[in-house]
Amino acid sequence: MKLKDRVSLITGGARGIGREIAYLFAKEGCFVVIADINLEEAIKTKQDFQKENLFLEVLELDVSEYLEVEEAVNKILDKFKRIDILVNNAGITRDNLILRMSQEEWDKVIDINLKGTFNCIKAVSRVMIKQRYGKIINIASVVGLIGNSGQANYSASKAGIIALTKTVAKELASRNINVNAVAPGFIDTEMTAKLPQDIKEKMLSQIPLARFGQPQDIARVCLFLASEDSSYITGQTLVVDGGMVMY
Ligand code: NAP
Repeated sequence: MKLKDRVSLITGGARGIGREIAYLFAKEGCFVVIADINLEEAIKTKQDFQKENLFLEVLELDVSEYLEVEEAVNKILDKFKRIDILVNNAGITRDNLILRMSQEEWDKVIDINLKGTFNCIKAVSRVMIKQRYGKIINIASVVGLIGNSGQANYSASKAGIIALTKTVAKELASRNINVNAVAPGFIDTEMTAKLPQDIKEKMLSQIPLARFGQPQDIARVCLFLASEDSSYITGQTLVVDGGMVMY
């Protein structure tokens, strides 16, 4: 088991990619805590894990609220005394063309995706520095590298996450903390299910591996980054997109 007795916090882990990361980590012997704004869905996920005898704790959390994040981190510390792995996965979209994008759409996406990632890193890195051990994995997106029409807010938040990853990697490297990002392409989840069929077909035609990604494709890369297999990698963004973006 690659994560035996490690303690991880995965934000937005109730469904989609975060849930799959939680599942794979739990199967690898990790004590997994998911923190999600959607408590009802998170509890359903916990019940599903229990059916397979997999460990999962659930916390209700809005990552954009720093005090809530601190409180969640303290609860995990009370119970487990440490946090080895943080996966900043919680994220939302509020798509619109720039001329139509409202202040509210801009602020909401930046607050949850970018500030939420900052909040969790700030609260958890304090713990990891004391431990002299930690793995931080930030879920970005290929649109943070190449941009995307209708997603000024989202692509800016993800580009910010990539720059934040590099900066924090430099700041924390001397304390044995690895900080990396994963940039998924098009992954089959509820987030992408709402896109119109013609857009999906157009995107599929741009993927050399000729299929949409599955949450497991991202989870496996997160396992690599959370394990000792990647101990000499930090500050990097791993693109997981079936070859859609090559540069
Ligand atoms: P998803 O299916 O929408 O799941 C996201 C989870 O995060 C949901 O449970 C959601 O709760 C929760 N959440 C939303 N706001 C939150 C907040 N403020 N605090 C805590 N939790 C919150 O999304 P996904 O497709 O799995 O995406 C996961 C991550 O991968 C995101 O960062 C996304 O940007 C990134 N990503 C996804 C794709 C893709 O193709 N799917 C591609 C590139 C990057 P609710 O149910 O209440 O919304």
